[in-house]
Amino acid sequence: MQKLREFHRQSIEDRENFWRRESQHIHWETPFHKVLDYSNPPFARWFVGGKTNLCYNAVDRWLPTQADKPALIWVSTEVDQEVIYTRADLAREVNAAAAILRGLGVRKGDRVLVYMPMIPEAAFIMLACARIGAIHSVVFGGFASHNLAQRIDDARPKVVVSADAGSRAGKAIPYKPLLDQAMKTSQHPPKSVLLVNRGLVKFDPVAGRDLDYATLRARYDGAEEPVEWLESSDPSYILYTSGTTGNPKGVQRDTGGYAVAMVASMRYIFGGKPGDTYLCTSDIGWAVGHSYVVYGPLLNGQATVMYEGLPTRPDGAILWKMVEKYRANAMFTAPTAIRVLKKHDPALLKKHDLSSLQTLYLAGEPLDEPTAVWISESLGKPVIDNYWQTETGWPILSAQPGVEVVPTKFGSPSFPVFGYDVRVVDESTGEDLGPNDKGVVAIVPPLPPGAMSTIWGDDERFVRTYFSAIPNRTLYSTFDWGLYDDDGYWFILGRTDDVINVAGHRLGTREIEESLNSHSAVAESAVVGVRDALKGQVAVGFAVLKDPAAFEGGQAQADLENDIKRVIEERIGAVARPARIHFVGALPKTRSGKVLRRAIVALCEGRDPGDLTTIEDPSALEQIKDSL
Ligand code: ATP
Ligand code: MG
Repeated sequence: MQKLREFHRQSIEDRENFWRRESQHIHWETPFHKVLDYSNPPFARWFVGGKTNLCYNAVDRWLPTQADKPALIWVSTEVDQEVIYTRADLAREVNAAAAILRGLGVRKGDRVLVYMPMIPEAAFIMLACARIGAIHSVVFGGFASHNLAQRIDDARPKVVVSADAGSRAGKAIPYKPLLDQAMKTSQHPPKSVLLVNRGLVKFDPVAGRDLDYATLRARYDGAEEPVEWLESSDPSYILYTSGTTGNPKGVQRDTGGYAVAMVASMRYIFGGKPGDTYLCTSDIGWAVGHSYVVYGPLLNGQATVMYEGLPTRPDGAILWKMVEKYRANAMFTAPTAIRVLKKHDPALLKKHDLSSLQTLYLAGEPLDEPTAVWISESLGKPVIDNYWQTETGWPILSAQPGVEVVPTKFGSPSFPVFGYDVRVVDESTGEDLGPNDKGVVAIVPPLPPGAMSTIWGDDERFVRTYFSAIPNRTLYSTFDWGLYDDDGYWFILGRTDDVINVAGHRLGTREIEESLNSHSAVAESAVVGVRDALKGQVAVGFAVLKDPAAFEGGQAQADLENDIKRVIEERIGAVARPARIHFVGALPKTRSGKVLRRAIVALCEGRDPGDLTTIEDPSALEQIKDSL
């Protein structure tokens, strides 16, 4: 672990030299004169005075060596299409898109809201914005009009780019009516809407407002749009956090720091090199999609696979089929996708030649040990759990095989990543805790390059939200609860909001879920802390069974409940023994696959579940209600 330790130490103690060295992997039109300006904490400005451009670095810079090599591989099992764009094709599309936006009056610093399905035009528009210095704000295509209107009002875009429809499980999902509704309720609707017409649903364009992408694309074919060189700290995009805690924050990202961090993360965490192929299944509406579908791979000269579809359609082998076909070297997905696949035939994993694949990366929620064991054994490849947030834009904790390969531990996202001075602190004193002590995971500022610069339009909220939560010290709070063990491996135990206090014992929900999932009958589970007159709080579990039919009837369920409680008691102790375990068919999740614990707690405590606009399947919440 010597190399990894030294790499991390240098990134913190000799910050300037470390990042000066990493900054050389991108093109600077004008060199920076200072690596870091931290004169106004906690606001950090990286690579001060340097001028660069994300689009130039992702597209133009690779044209001399990779013009005819795949850059963007689009696969849709929704509409049964595959298109491979070489770097030259990508340049052509991005230039045309940039010309369209400029034609609509979009200039440096203007916002463009992107409300689109997983189609190549979404990536073209993001890169086109970067090219002309416009700030994109991608809103997940599954959001309804209320969420969309809120984000329009916060970002005040000059143009909205959208499509007639998305598609899910082969069914068209119209976007246009939601968009029209949002434009009506918004206080600041933009004048122009640019629409990609996929021909999935019929719609009525609004005269004078709605413009057809293909028509304009044809008009500007062959356009060569000059690059707008941006100062390193100029914003590149706004992206809202997933809203799991019901309070999305508009994360503002810079330009130069992000470019440098993206390339560094591709090299050292994802083991990527120019010419490699990267497959990330995230939607572009999430942080993972921004960093690891669009920017990271392209900035590092890699090809990226953009996938529109489910991991189970046409069958549970589709992800592996893509790995084989495009010779992907790394794959990035969410634990929830793997848990879904776990319910399918393991033989599907053996159907395809996965020899190109070096590592599978998983992030976004806790990776429970049974799932980690299952997938790493089935694949026979390293599986790397990485932990981060929309706010940081790239991993905080992760193995870094590009620096040094060291063993991983199941259930642990390994070590702090270079650039992050991560601590576990006592929530009431703010003091650093030692090995095995549970506390709040915090970062000593300045945040590294690429992490959020502020909350869009609200510096004060940025400071108040993230830097004032820990007493006696100015630290960035992740609002996650965790520990590191004697060997320096970190464990995330849940969100600070979800920590359960049972008769004075502090338990992360994750710890109990981990034990619950270890029971052979359980596919997945959620554990929440529910107010209790006697004990303060008690743990209540909700479990989805692998084979519900095997436990029909009251007695079978009661026996199973007791058996699971016994397992939890044996593994953690009597304090962790849930008061109840309810069996449900599905867990309520956000559209990004995270369990909506706050809504479950509310139902358990007889309260209103609150804002549910980010929920994937409302019937899952009904099941929770019915089970109580
Ligand atoms: P919001 O902040 O709006 O409530 P959110 O926190 O779900 O939503 P994201 O930024 O998408 O929004 O998610 C980051 C959070 O996801 C982390 O703070 C952590 O709680 C969880 N998380 C991400 N990766 C991991 C991981 N590898 N292990 C455990 N938890 C993870
Ligand atoms: Mg969060």
